[in-house]
Amino acid sequence: MIDPIVELRGVTKRYGEHAALDEFSLQVCRGEFLTLLGPSGSGKTTILRLVAGFEEPQAGEIFIEGKDAARLPPYRRNVNTVFQHFALFPHLNVFQNVAFGLEQKKLRRDEVRRRVRNVLELVELPGKEDRSTNQLSGGEKQRVALARALVLEPAVLLLDEPLGALDEKLRKQMQVELKRLHARLGITFIFVTHDQQEALVMSDRVAVLHRGHLEQLGTGEEIYARPRTRFVAEFMGVENFLDTQCVARDGDACRLETLTGLTLWTDASAAVVEGARATIAVRPESLRITLASPEPKPANLLAGQVVETIFEGGSRRWIVQISTGERLVARDSNSLATAREQIVRGSNVYLSWEPARSLVYPQTAGRENAKDSAPRAASPSTK
Ligand code: ADP
Ligand code: MG
Repeated sequence: MIDPIVELRGVTKRYGEHAALDEFSLQVCRGEFLTLLGPSGSGKTTILRLVAGFEEPQAGEIFIEGKDAARLPPYRRNVNTVFQHFALFPHLNVFQNVAFGLEQKKLRRDEVRRRVRNVLELVELPGKEDRSTNQLSGGEKQRVALARALVLEPAVLLLDEPLGALDEKLRKQMQVELKRLHARLGITFIFVTHDQQEALVMSDRVAVLHRGHLEQLGTGEEIYARPRTRFVAEFMGVENFLDTQCVARDGDACRLETLTGLTLWTDASAAVVEGARATIAVRPESLRITLASPEPKPANLLAGQVVETIFEGGSRRWIVQISTGERLVARDSNSLATAREQIVRGSNVYLSWEPARSLVYPQTAGRENAKDSAPRAASPSTK
């Protein structure tokens, strides 16, 4: 069994009538880099505030290092937070900002000096002790905020969209640095982001949140390859959805028919029963787009016409209207291949994909049902 350093058990947090978290449970393993991923308002910050002790739940329990947090005031929790907007003290210089928590603990002056110097080196800000915080760039401010949290040597570091305010290039650089810091320090990181790419890059495990519920918990690979619900699929960049009815099963394969009469195949054996409705989902990068009809004929083959092409630099995408009217998006990361360049607006094309790449989500009446019959992706071997 895992050794959870932080555990939430059936936690409900309401603001008035609105439940920001609804019977939410999660175990965070000691030393892992866990990311809370979800759209704005899904409850990510609420989780961090509960763990830090800035809020109390109406129901459920929180354990930190095995202790019931209800009896631990924030300052007794071995946890520190890095906030999105840095929250530095503007009237204090870099040294004073970082030293603040240590001085509260009444450490000796030379000990404070030593620890501040060490941590500034760790975040690669040596020699900036005397700078005023308003002389710092966004990236430097974020490093000070990190140093201020790390100098207290917490067992768990909570990071609330810490890279959200940085420009793209700096964000990419800080992602790598945060990972390096995590590996070097060996402490537990609970990191919040609404950016799926960032979650995949950073994390040992990702917890996908939706309206105060845990939709899926797993490694980045698992969540990317086998999103458990349609919500997770959409959030992880799946763009093509077709409503179908399962007409026949044949062992592991299942033949589905769309409402417009297209025939599609999946090998999601357990996911659907004959006669049941299901949504088929396919990633843009799982679709193969060709000018000629592929040989041998693939199980899933649709003819259509390109209505738009989008050049993205490293990749290219095509919006294809298929003969029955639906629009699908195909994406290819080899954007400069000559064959790709020849597929332009107006081209008649074929879209094909392997049955194993069809993700399948049974359609259920309501949310309650959705909980019981967890939708399943095509096949455990889907990559
Ligand atoms: P996220 O960080 O994922 O964007 P939050 O945890 O901040 O989401 O918020 C979850 C939900 O709780 C949102 O609907 C938000 O409006 C609500 N909420 C959060 N904090 C408060 C508060 N102090 N008062 C009222 N509603 C709040
Ligand atoms: Mg938030």
